[in-house]
Amino acid sequence: MPIYEYKCNACGKNFETLVMGKTTPECPSCDSKNLSRLMSACGFVSKSSGPSGETTSKSAGTSSCGSCASSSCSSCGMG
Ligand SMILES: [Zn+2]
Repeated sequence: MPIYEYKCNACGKNFETLVMGKTTPECPSCDSKNLSRLMSACGFVSKSSGPSGETTSKSAGTSSCGSCASSSCSSCGMG
């Protein structure tokens, strides 16, 4: 799922939201569209997984990030 993390430039709130296509989200706090997109499309997956057995960083040639369809995702290590 295309989940992106945004930071609101108006009130400084950070939030994650689903973005379909080129829809511009609004800040859930102040409804502002003055947002900065953060690189969280892939990173949010590894946030919840601890270093206990799970091999997250594996350079197997293909992207290990299932939610990222872009090859320019730095979180995938493909960058
Ligand atoms: Zn805001």
